[in-house]
Amino acid sequence: MLEVETLISGYGRIEALHGVSVSVGAGEIVTLVGGNGAGKTTLLRAISGVQPVTGGRVAFEGADITRVPAHKRISLGIAQVPEGRQIFAPLSVEDNLRLGAYRSKEGRNTVQSDLGRIFEMFPILAERRRNPAGGLSGGQQQMLAIGRALMGRPRLLLLDEPSMGLAPILVDQILEAIVTLRKAGVTVFLVEQNAYAALSIADRGYVIETGAIAKEGSGKALIEDPAVREAYLGV
Ligand code: ATP
Repeated sequence: MLEVETLISGYGRIEALHGVSVSVGAGEIVTLVGGNGAGKTTLLRAISGVQPVTGGRVAFEGADITRVPAHKRISLGIAQVPEGRQIFAPLSVEDNLRLGAYRSKEGRNTVQSDLGRIFEMFPILAERRRNPAGGLSGGQQQMLAIGRALMGRPRLLLLDEPSMGLAPILVDQILEAIVTLRKAGVTVFLVEQNAYAALSIADRGYVIETGAIAKEGSGKALIEDPAVREAYLGV
């Protein structure tokens, strides 16, 4: 579904990605783990099209999208949930979700059924639908950010550190939601510092170190890899 080949990207003269290649198959959960500043966010933003690239190629469902602008990638079916959630605090939960439908190709008649689906997946959002989003807890805001991305009916969801700042019980809820999404046919590319949790739900994973892929394998193989365990799992 997604093929990233030898991607080069950076900020001015600083090169942050030195030729990164990753692929995500339809229906997979693929995780990218790595330390602070390794290039995880830069890679996700390059895939969603908001980060310029200076070399390499991004292909989605067989088509080269390297030069396709970000808003068109959304209509192709790629949605990113940014790090730090970026919800609209004064707006209600429901209005935040409705904003996610703004680019939806299908039009208004799908909005109600999409809202229904998301409220089913995250019942707490249904309970709070009329409340300002800023009053939600961290975990609930993360669910809202994911829900908002789903309103555009993406086929590929890019998630940037969804567990950041969350209590362990909420991390589990978010991971369960990701597994549920996959069952509903959404393909997931997940960036996480919480490597153990992310690898344990992933079909495959990559380890990125200072802008280059250092390792790849099944989620299970990476969890069992002694070097990965020492560097990222704290065991
Ligand atoms: P984190 O987990 O801390 O978010 P990351 O793996 O997502 O880290 P990136 O944010 O992609 O890493 O950063 C990769 C490299 O690019 C780092 O060296 C970082 O300092 C640099 N970088 C990131 N954003 C900018 C920016 N806006 N301007 C200049 N350099 C940047």
